Parts: sequence; structure tokens; C-alpha cells
Amino acid sequence: MKLLENKVALVTGASRGIGEAIAIRFAEHGANVAFTYLSSDERAKALEEKLAAYGVKAKAYKSDAGNYAAAEQLTNDVLADFGAVDICVNNAGISRDNLLLRLTEEQWDDVMQANLKSVYNLTKQVIKPMMKARAGSIINLSSVVGVEGNAGQSSYAASKAGIIGFTKSIAQELGSRNIRCNCIAPGFIETDMTHYLKDGGAEKWFQKIPLGRFGKPEEVADVALFLASGMSSYVSGQVIHTCGAMTT
Ligand code: NAP
Repeated sequence: MKLLENKVALVTGASRGIGEAIAIRFAEHGANVAFTYLSSDERAKALEEKLAAYGVKAKAYKSDAGNYAAAEQLTNDVLADFGAVDICVNNAGISRDNLLLRLTEEQWDDVMQANLKSVYNLTKQVIKPMMKARAGSIINLSSVVGVEGNAGQSSYAASKAGIIGFTKSIAQELGSRNIRCNCIAPGFIETDMTHYLKDGGAEKWFQKIPLGRFGKPEEVADVALFLASGMSSYVSGQVIHTCGAMTT
């Protein structure tokens, strides 16, 4: 059974990692997929072709998620190309990890811009067509670190905690328009972002995770599929932890 037949999904930061897995899972389920990236031109082109092979419409947009004007332009372009935005996944994100004593103002600002302002930028735009349609699902990628904190990740944790407050507020503001807004809070997922953790041996990290392993991007994509689809029609304002029980 296809869960997203003829829906239009906009996924940010889909050239790699979790965003790519979400774009693929959505296309498998019949969604037309618009997606963004920052610099990975070749990977974006390859993904466009991969998604189109599922018989859906797919298009990549090079668009900086941290830039407000770019988010406005992106939404206009997607509406012109696809005619609607039914699902928005704010996935694009970066980390610039450092202990606070060494964390520079530039590192702090970069993380806030790419991770938190980005969510405001695009959500502010996509709610306009969603309000007209009186339907929509917005999915924001937070992190277990946004709930629990983590030494050496104060900027990243603050940005991800901010996303949770934003998500809960938007769910309350726009529930009456049938727009749902939820967070996914992944633990350690195997992507470029966590690759460095394996340098000193992955086993020490596995000990902190009751399921005994890192998650796969596809396992996060399955949660995104649930939140995007009618299967979650009464779920809004929630944070779905996807972390192998690392937090409970
Ligand atoms: P990743 O492998 O590093 O991929 C990041 C993606 O975001 C890439 O497609 C990148 O595009 C894009 N991107 C980065 N900055 C952007 C910007 N300013 N504008 C547009 N696109 C931008 O990351 P990931 O591990 O898949 O993480 C995806 C999301 O899940 C992030 O929000 C992250 O914080 C969150 N998360 C990840 C984990 C984990 O363990 N991996 C855990 C919790 C939460 P380019 O390829 O063009 O650079």
C-alpha cells in the first residue's frame, strides 16, 4: 500500500544521509519530491534520477536553508513546478562541535542559522499554501541531544531544543487549520555527520544504546513516512525519539 500517492513533499538537505533516505522512502510511497541541498551538485542530480525511477516527479533545488529570502524563492519555485506543498521536512542541518570555552561566535551563529533559523524560514513560507489547502504535515529534525544536552555540543543542542519549542508552538497555532507539526529526535544515525564518532571505535558508543548499534537513515525515514502520512492524522506537537532507547 502506498501511503503518499500524489502528495507533494519538500525535503531540505536531501543530497546525503537522513534527508536522502526520507526522499527515497517518500518516492517509494508515491509522493512527488522536491528537495534541496547546499553544495553536493552531483549527488543531487543522481538522487533526482533515482527518485524519478519510482514514477514520481522529482526536482533538486540548490538553496541555502539558513537564508530567509532563499526559502521564499524556493517555496515559490516549488509551487510553480509542483502546484502544492503537502509535506515539508526541515531536515538540513550541520554540527560545529566544541567545548564552550573554545566555541567561537562564528561557530555558534553558523549552527543557529543552518539548524534553527532554517526551520523558521521555510515553515513560515509553506504554511501559506497549507493554510489554503487546509491540510499539511511539517516534520522537523531535532535530536536526542536537544532533549538531554551533550557536553561539547552546546550550540547544536540549543538549536535542536529550539526546534522542539518551535514545533510545539506551530502545532498549537495551526492545528485549527488541519496542519500538523512534529519533531523526530534521532539518536546516533550512520551518516557523514556521525562518521567521526567511529574513529575511536564504535563499541564504546554502542554501550550507551540499549539496541546496541547506531540507527540507519532508513529507520528515521520510516518515522518520517508515518508522520507525513494519514497514519498519523491525530499526532501533532510531538517529539518522536528514534534512538534505540538511548533516551526513554
Ligand atoms: P548529513 O549527512 O551531514 O547531511 C546534511 C544534509 O544537509 C546534506 O544534504 C547537506 O547538503 C544539507 N545541508 C547542510 N546545510 C545546508 C544548508 N544550509 N542548506 C541546505 N542544505 C544544507 O546530515 P544527517 O546526519 O543526514 O542529518 C540530517 C538531519 O538530522 C540534521 O538536521 C541533523 O542535525 C539531524 N540529526 C542527525 C543525527 C545523526 O546521528 N546523523 C542525529 C540527530 C539529528 P550538501 O550535501 O550539499 O552539503
